[in-house]
Amino acid sequence: MKTAFKIDTFWYRYEFAKSRGMIHFHGLCWRSDREPHNLLHEALKNGLDEDVCASKLSEWAQQNFAMTAMHPAGSDASGNPNKDLWPPPEGNAPAPPESKNPLFKLFMDISQSENSILEDHLLLTNKINLHRCSSYCLVSKKGMKHKVCRMEFGSENMQGKAIRDSPAIVKDKNGSLRLEMKRDHPFLVQHSQYHTQAWRANGDISLILSKSSPDNPSISDIIATEKYVSGYACKGNQPTGEVVDLFNAMVNATDETSSTDGKSLCTKLLMNTIKTDISSMEAAYELTGLPLFHSSHQFQSVSMSGSRVLEKMATLAQKVHLWINICHGLRKKNAHGINLYATKAKFL
Ligand SMILES: [Zn+2]
Repeated sequence: MKTAFKIDTFWYRYEFAKSRGMIHFHGLCWRSDREPHNLLHEALKNGLDEDVCASKLSEWAQQNFAMTAMHPAGSDASGNPNKDLWPPPEGNAPAPPESKNPLFKLFMDISQSENSILEDHLLLTNKINLHRCSSYCLVSKKGMKHKVCRMEFGSENMQGKAIRDSPAIVKDKNGSLRLEMKRDHPFLVQHSQYHTQAWRANGDISLILSKSSPDNPSISDIIATEKYVSGYACKGNQPTGEVVDLFNAMVNATDETSSTDGKSLCTKLLMNTIKTDISSMEAAYELTGLPLFHSSHQFQSVSMSGSRVLEKMATLAQKVHLWINICHGLRKKNAHGINLYATKAKFL
């Protein structure tokens, strides 16, 4: 993947999903040629408006990553999506026979011809690249009546993403600029065809954009990156909930003639006692002794005791000074007088 995507800098961390404990990772990558940062900066310098910039970025992402939010089923002569190749409920494609299950195949099994590669992309998309909201992604938000999908696929009462006829530069939930590609399916995960067919599991890819100069990235871009990395580095794994289900089943199996009060008391007690369990996949991974995060760079701890503000009022110059130090491996270790939330991450 590093070669195919021309990546020279990366940071990623393994996590275990709270529902079934499935291993997955979140990460950031930078390309060696600094694209598409250079491309966007050049377009803005030439006074192109945002829609034109979005089109240029989208074209670049298609050419270099085969990135798309369009269903590979394509459309008919009148431009309507071929929904008979989409699985229900949005379309009416029948489930493929088990012999065509793309999850039992390797890339070398399907790479004989262009047609077999295209068919594999379609089968994989229908199998793993359509988002379905569940208790995993739906979260309650303060002041909102309905639960919201944290993967940005709408909410309980209004599911899915808006269809887009053209790409756009949008602000995501963290306030970062991202590219939203042209979209014909409300639940399609924006992905790279190369990544999907090589990795053969779900994966969404975003282009995080910056309008600052590639030679002089803005402080807010650097801080956003630090927050992303330290946020994931410190995030604990969610319990799978299986132990709670087990105790629930035990309580429900008790004699119905016993006191209901006793039963509800027991349930409450168990719910509040069992907070964390570890999935078999996480346990197996821990036993291998492999690290939970990987990076192309070495990190230097700048605080031994977690998050604390060293000084509230720092000048911009001081902040720049600190971030330059961090980015250059902390050649100067004196962090006095700098507004540093030092550091949320315990870079293990
Ligand atoms: Zn969702």
